[in-house]
Formats: sequence, C-alpha cells, structure tokens
Amino acid sequence: MPACPLPTDETLRQSTLEEMDLLDTPAEHYLDTLVKLTQQLAQVDTVLISLIDQDRQWFKARIGLDASETPRNVSFCGYAILGEGTLLVPDATHDPRFVDNPLVLNAPYIRFYAGHPLRAGNGKAIGTLCMFDPRPRVLSETQQTNFRDLATLAEGYLQLRSLIQNNRDLRVKMDREQRKAMLDPLTQLWNRGGLIAFQDHERRLAQQSSLRLGAIYADLDHFKAINDNYGHAGGDQVLCECARRLRAALRPDDLVVRQGGEEFVALIRVKDSEELEKIAERVRQMIGSEPMQLSAGPLRVSLSIGCTLLTDDEQIDQALERADTGLYTAKQTGRNRVIYVPPVA
Ligand code: GH3
Ligand code: MG
Ligand code: MG
Repeated sequence: MPACPLPTDETLRQSTLEEMDLLDTPAEHYLDTLVKLTQQLAQVDTVLISLIDQDRQWFKARIGLDASETPRNVSFCGYAILGEGTLLVPDATHDPRFVDNPLVLNAPYIRFYAGHPLRAGNGKAIGTLCMFDPRPRVLSETQQTNFRDLATLAEGYLQLRSLIQNNRDLRVKMDREQRKAMLDPLTQLWNRGGLIAFQDHERRLAQQSSLRLGAIYADLDHFKAINDNYGHAGGDQVLCECARRLRAALRPDDLVVRQGGEEFVALIRVKDSEELEKIAERVRQMIGSEPMQLSAGPLRVSLSIGCTLLTDDEQIDQALERADTGLYTAKQTGRNRVIYVPPVA
C-alpha cells in the first residue's frame, strides 16, 4: 500500500487545524444531525466529519462507526484533502491506492468511499465530510451535488464554531491532552473528570446570570438485559444513541457527561425547580419516544431520572447524592420517570 502523500502546505494546514481548537472536543447536536441526514439521504453505513491531525484522523461527528479516531496513514480522507473537489472511490478493491488498505481488507470492509474537503477560513483543508459503505456504489450527479452542499454546511459550522470558541471564555482553558483525557471516546460526551473540572465554571456562569444550577442524574432502565439480548456492541450502540438524544434535548452549552456505565449527568442553568423538571422530562421523552435503530433492528429504551438544584456552595458530588435518592425512587416506582428532590433548606 503506497503511503498517503502529505499536502504541500502541510505545516500551515496542521497549525490552522490546531488554532481552530476543534480536536478532542465533545460531539455537538448540529453536527450529529448533519451526519445523520447525510447517512439517510445517501443510504450509506457510515458518515464522518473527520479532522486530519498529524498522525491520526479524529472524528468530530460520526454515525455508523465505533472508533473515535484511526491512524492517518491508512486513511482515505488523507487523500481526499489533497484535491479540490470530492474524492469518489466507487469500489476500493479496484483502486491501487486502497486495494490492500486494512480498512478494505478487514472491518469496516470499505468498498464505496466519498470524501469532500472541509476548509478553514484561510483555505487550508482541515478535514472532510466523508461517507463509506461495504457495498460498491456510484453517486448520481444530484447525489454528488447534495453531498457537496452538506459539506459546505459542515465547513461553515466548523468555521463559525472556532470563531465563537476564540471569542468566548471556553469552559476552562486547558491543553488538548488534558481535554482529551476528559472525553468519553464511545459517546463523545465529557466524562466524570470533565464534570469535576468544569463544575466551578458552570456555577460562576449561573451566578453571573442570576440562575440556579440544576443536576440531572439519568440511568438507563434494564440496560443489562439490552446487553444480554443484543450483545455488548448492541449496548454500545444504545449508549451512543442516548448521548445523541441527550445532546438534542439539551442546549448546546449545557454540560452533558457520561458519568460511567449507563449513567449520564447534565449540569444545566435554570430559573427554578419547575424549569429543571420540565427539561428533565424532555430528556426522558427524547430517549423513550421513538425506538432506536440498532443493527439488529429497532429497540425502545427508557431512562429513569433523579434531579435536584445545587445550593450556592455545594460540590457536585453532594448534589448527585441527593439526585441519586430521586433516581432510586424512580427505579422503585416503575422506572421511566423523573423525580425531583429539593435541597434541604
Ligand atoms: P436498572 O433499570 O435498575 O438500572 O437496571 P440495569 O440493568 O440498567 O442496571 P445494572 O446496573 O444492573 O446494569 C448496568 C449494566 O451496564 C451492567 C454493565 O455490564 C453495563 N455496562 C457498563 N458499561 C458499559 C459499556 O460501556 N458498554 C456496554 N455495552 N455495557 C456497559
Ligand atoms: Mg446504573
Ligand atoms: Mg440502569
């Protein structure tokens, strides 16, 4: 397999990508939506927004693939960023660049690939919108145009996102390695470390706008049975879809965390307990309203929630203990419900 050539402007390309501060950041609802829409329109297995880092490609949004990153030297997208337009590979087994690529020879058995370069404001290609499928495929002219248009939307979003990040006090300043350690690779939500690191910042933001902080503590119902019936991979698909639905139910700047296993926490700014309960209820409905589409077929899942308001000087763990008593009650009284526990006056 020939090594993928580097672009001639690689140094500037790489520094542009780093300055945009997109690598190792949590997934976002708008990009989740864009990759899902692309997947449905094109009827392909996998769609990614792939950022081409020095020696890996890291996925800012993904649907249909478990891995959060793969090595750059075997990446199709490394080739896609070399050109101006869409790189189309109708059947990788007939393309000398990819015929012995491990992603072709082994899972995910790529045959069809299409990748369109995504550029920064200065024109440097920082990554791609790409899609692939284990079946060979050609795209009609219209499908190619649609795909390019979707890539334009993704590109615009990434450019705006990085401008906003530069202009705002991004949660807590930290370097990329620190941030990476706080991301859950499966769901691309913050992990528990992120919750601990960002809680004080969230509290300050709430105080600045005279709002309260609410904690939502959610636990999937009967998740062990889902693992038993659909295997660990099926369980993982459920966790990823839950994360997507949580992002969709909450606001883009709410702190959403995979606390561990099948437990999620959201820290949100609210007026009062009524608003908190309303949002928790929306989360519960988003998870349970429509069946999830797993590889093995549709599956309806539900979630139990305990929620509480934080008092002024309280650490998150104390509040979560209280929310957990609500969660316990929710489980005891039939699951798939929200129980609010007020702080002791
Ligand atoms: P309940 O309604 O009372 O919450 O029941 P439950 O089955 O959801 O709860 P339980 O705590 O018995 O089971 C949680 C399961 O979650 C057990 C564990 O194997 C599974 N689990 C934890 N982490 C992961 C993961 O990353 N992937 C998958 N697939 N399963 C996981
Ligand atoms: Mg649990
Ligand atoms: Mg559970």
